[in-house]
Amino acid sequence: MANPIVTEYRAERRHLVESLQSQGISDLAVLRAIEMTPRHLFVPSGIGRQAYEDRPIHIGLKQTMSQPSIHARYLEIAALTGKERVLEIGTGSGYQTVLLAHLAEQVFSIERVGPLLERARQAIQACGVRNVSTLLGDGTIGWRAYAPYDVILVSAGGPSIPQPLVEQLAEGGRMLIPVGDQEEQVLALITRREGKVERRDIAPVRFVPLKGTHGW
Ligand code: SAH
Repeated sequence: MANPIVTEYRAERRHLVESLQSQGISDLAVLRAIEMTPRHLFVPSGIGRQAYEDRPIHIGLKQTMSQPSIHARYLEIAALTGKERVLEIGTGSGYQTVLLAHLAEQVFSIERVGPLLERARQAIQACGVRNVSTLLGDGTIGWRAYAPYDVILVSAGGPSIPQPLVEQLAEGGRMLIPVGDQEEQVLALITRREGKVERRDIAPVRFVPLKGTHGW
């Protein structure tokens, strides 16, 4: 049965997907996840329509939800096939968490700000996805109980790559993490192959600070 939440703003979502395609986003799984996810549930109430413009949105408590084209590029790089166990650091609004739920097998997401996680949990549930587990805590130490992860996505920028996250990466796994200072970072792709860890820098990015034991 169609989820009524998903039929709302359908035209706006279609329009957003077309605009992302015209910006060069071509991964069909990513575009489909964006088309299926009611982004208006993740923004402060009353600004529903703005949720479908390609711009970042403040979600309160000094945190920002990235603009859809950034999420799309980031998820294209993650190249999920539907089979992965994913660890996300920085649930924020929960919007990307739901995109991941459509793109991977199982999603584990950690947020350190309680009220944000509370809101995110409700929005995630309203989307009807069932393959998401969330944790209130410091994501820089990872979530050992469910490790290892095929993919780790860090949605906040840190001074360095947290060692516990490297340790919780599966053999052949990959991690995307913005590394730099508190204003600007470079998006680093970390891969773990035969015990060896490799780093490739992808693009300059601007994320909110990664706080915690292995963060700021
Ligand atoms: N991808 C999110 C936006 C994330 S903003 C979205 O779609 O809405 C980055 C988030 O990382 C913020 O909510 C911030 O509170 C959180 N964060 C920062 N440091 C963290 C840490 N050590 N552990 C968990 N979450 C952290």
